[in-house]
Amino acid sequence: MNTEVPIPAIQSQQYCAGLRADFPILNEKPYGKPLIYFDNAATSQKPAIVIEALQEYYATYNANIHRGVHFLSQKASQAFDDVRVKVQEFIHASSEREIIFTRGTTESVNLVAATYGRKNIGAGDEIIVSAMEHHSNIVPWQLLCEEKGAKLRVIEMNDAGELIIDSFKSLLNEKTKFVAIVHTSNSLGTINPVKEIIALAHERNIPVLVDGAQAVAHSKIDVQDLDCDFFAFSGHKMFGPTGVGVLYGKLNLLENMPPYQGGGEMIHSVSFEKTTFNEVPFKFEAGTPNIADVIALGTAIDYMNGIDLNSVAAFEQELLAHATEGLKKIPHVKLIGTASKKSSVVSFVIEGVNALDAGMYLDTLGIAVRTGLHCTEPVMQRFGIPGTIRASFMFYNTFTEIDQLLDGVKKAIQLLRRD
Ligand code: PLP
Repeated sequence: MNTEVPIPAIQSQQYCAGLRADFPILNEKPYGKPLIYFDNAATSQKPAIVIEALQEYYATYNANIHRGVHFLSQKASQAFDDVRVKVQEFIHASSEREIIFTRGTTESVNLVAATYGRKNIGAGDEIIVSAMEHHSNIVPWQLLCEEKGAKLRVIEMNDAGELIIDSFKSLLNEKTKFVAIVHTSNSLGTINPVKEIIALAHERNIPVLVDGAQAVAHSKIDVQDLDCDFFAFSGHKMFGPTGVGVLYGKLNLLENMPPYQGGGEMIHSVSFEKTTFNEVPFKFEAGTPNIADVIALGTAIDYMNGIDLNSVAAFEQELLAHATEGLKKIPHVKLIGTASKKSSVVSFVIEGVNALDAGMYLDTLGIAVRTGLHCTEPVMQRFGIPGTIRASFMFYNTFTEIDQLLDGVKKAIQLLRRD
């Protein structure tokens, strides 16, 4: 999101408080306590209109798409196809054909590794990832390296959890065939200089995949401005349903990639002698797609298009600052991930308190945080810790909720800390 326009704090706070009403789940009371939902990096909550879009599809026009001549099928096909255009505009891709629907970020990365990777990466080649990748942007590349005899190289990070650009530069060489990099770290909150990384890779004609899972809900994405070759994200982290995500790819790359899975929809013609494939993007979308969730993803995009992203971004940064300052004042708490450019995520450890125990205690207060590795085990190894407690904020959170988290952490220390 564009945070260049300064917004008076009170204005963005009031604006975001008004948006809370869009999310019915925020009225829930686990254990009779008001829900304080700080697990937004794992999955965001859903506005009522997204939930209603799912209900409406199943209740009024559920049908398989693209092959039916009847009313319901045509209505469902139109609604499904419209979302491809919505996604194209949402991330500013140059063509709707560059948008492939997947199950989520994980499948998007796997698709690229299994198709582009299998075709273009060979023995002795190198793939660069960073020290703060989610497992879903490590393991598919590791599998490919094992299969092909290629090597995974890792960009280092500093103690604040920022990537060291000189480390990246030193890894680039004539063997480098691909770079896969996370836009915003889910366990540290670091926002990486992906545009700079892409430009450096492109100086050597190396394609770059950006894992945008944590970026889409908090910032305006422009894939043409980034000039990334692939961009992966999940619907459920940006107010949409689970089970649907997107892979963006530059058209010329997609057209030269082999298919991903075989089945219906991805073919042009099938005979036992020879099968020809459908055009991009259908070549990569075998079988009946996730129609309902794609349609509801479109509604989530409508929702995002309807909110004032400047106010939201400004408020999330205030929530981050409030939590960070509060945690810094609590003895025995250590923040993990103190980058200068951060998304609204605080990860921390409490000296002498097991993260899981702290998370379970906070849960009894109605506070939902995440504890553990956050699918970034190498990050924990880098910092020499078994895991963190992570609170990740969305615009529908409040300062009062953060104050309750801070009180909860203090109580957890009193109750659970062993000297
Ligand atoms: N990448 C990052 C940075 C993430 O935070 C996540 C999920 O937490 C993923 C990838 C995987 O997303 P999904 O499980 O929706 O495929």
